[in-house]
Amino acid sequence: MRLRGVVTSAVAGMLALTACSSSDAGAAGGVDAQALSAAVTTDAVLGHLVELEQIAAAHDGNRAAGTSGYDASVDYVARILRDKGFDVQTPEFAFDRFDVHSQSLRVGELAPEIVALTYSPSSGPDGVRGRVVPVPADDTPGCEPTDYDGLDVAGAIALVDRGSCTFADKQAVAADRGAAALLVANNSPEPLTGGTLGDAGAGRIPVGGVGQADGAALAASPGEATLVLDTITDTLRTRNVVAQTRTGSTDDVVMAGAHLDSVPEGPGVNDNGTGVGAVLETALALGPTPPAANAVRFAFWGGEELGLLGSDAYVAGLDDAQRDDIALYLNFDMLGSENAGYLSYDGDDSDRAGSGPGPEGSAGIERTFVDYLAAQGISADGTDFDGRSDYGPFIEAGIPSGGVFSGADDVKSAEQARKWGGDADQPFDRNYHSPDDTLANVDAEALGVGASAVAYAVGTYANSVEGENGVPVGDARAHARTTE
Ligand SMILES: [Zn+2]
Repeated sequence: MRLRGVVTSAVAGMLALTACSSSDAGAAGGVDAQALSAAVTTDAVLGHLVELEQIAAAHDGNRAAGTSGYDASVDYVARILRDKGFDVQTPEFAFDRFDVHSQSLRVGELAPEIVALTYSPSSGPDGVRGRVVPVPADDTPGCEPTDYDGLDVAGAIALVDRGSCTFADKQAVAADRGAAALLVANNSPEPLTGGTLGDAGAGRIPVGGVGQADGAALAASPGEATLVLDTITDTLRTRNVVAQTRTGSTDDVVMAGAHLDSVPEGPGVNDNGTGVGAVLETALALGPTPPAANAVRFAFWGGEELGLLGSDAYVAGLDDAQRDDIALYLNFDMLGSENAGYLSYDGDDSDRAGSGPGPEGSAGIERTFVDYLAAQGISADGTDFDGRSDYGPFIEAGIPSGGVFSGADDVKSAEQARKWGGDADQPFDRNYHSPDDTLANVDAEALGVGASAVAYAVGTYANSVEGENGVPVGDARAHARTTE
């Protein structure tokens, strides 16, 4: 799997990096971005993937947030960076974890499919027994106490339609009227999945969702029901890992991040061991005291798979001055997809798809990656800032962002297969979020290209965040972020 050629040049590259620091590459001597990208070898990055896969294997097969597998991943990354001489922080943040042990509903002969809403309080393993009481539907079904006028729902299981107000509001109204539990009928045929009460503190009574047809059947013949929503909601603490170079201006911090957690279903080697490996190896190749004009901050996020929790907590924890000091954010989430794509976040929205452009400066970041890949003979495509990775909180804060990506569950087009190889009409990563997201299924060639792009961009912006592919600085930055 190893790409022999790259390894040899990496050794040479390393020497070049040092030699170059005393010559003409920028105010503080400067980093040679080409040499840095050559120094980040596929072999070295794969070495980190081997470690992360072994960590998962030693911890129930995953590295999910709140598990010992994740903690061991944090310890690994922090140790590697500390051994290299970085100051490493592992800031903690709390998050609410929700899990379902069992869920079922029986009403006479009916056994409709039921899905507990996230953060639904538990009914306990034995469940709640009670009459099903349908609440007459109106424009705001079950949203007002008056919807329950004339109904006796004390100790009963209320049944309302979805729509108009939040699930949390509906269950609060039902609870206020004495209901022991609430069923919400979907307003479309499929089961009601993905519903949530919003936060762990909102739950008053057990709440489950049923499909539209099942809801209608229950309303037509309400009987005595047994509802089991055996859930667990608890608040866990987990950590991010943050390390910054000791040289360079801290007014123009260049941030590069990758999430460190996996889904519970598998070891998360491509998602996102590859991003972690590339960012970590870039930090090691750059070192803690590079001759760079700008400080570089490396971040490894927890809880991404649960909703960008780590990056969100991090950005929310910054005051205005600290946010303003971050010149740009580079995100790397999946670089070794088996049916790889060569994608760069569409900072200028040139694809006119999905969400709009990124904050001012994101277009330049996109050009940096697209130009770098073109120089490798690769014609990159755009990928939307769809909010599915840790750039989300940064672009929300007006911080220009970008990165490269090898694709997840989206399908590779025939045109993309023609120019990049691989299988048309097949997912970029068929092992996405599965037990098969393993080292054996990583495309090492794509990983090598992606990792060198990480290093190239970090080296480039460590020298300067200005220029044609730069981002707003000074007053222009403050202005750009207040008008975003
Ligand atoms: Zn991911």
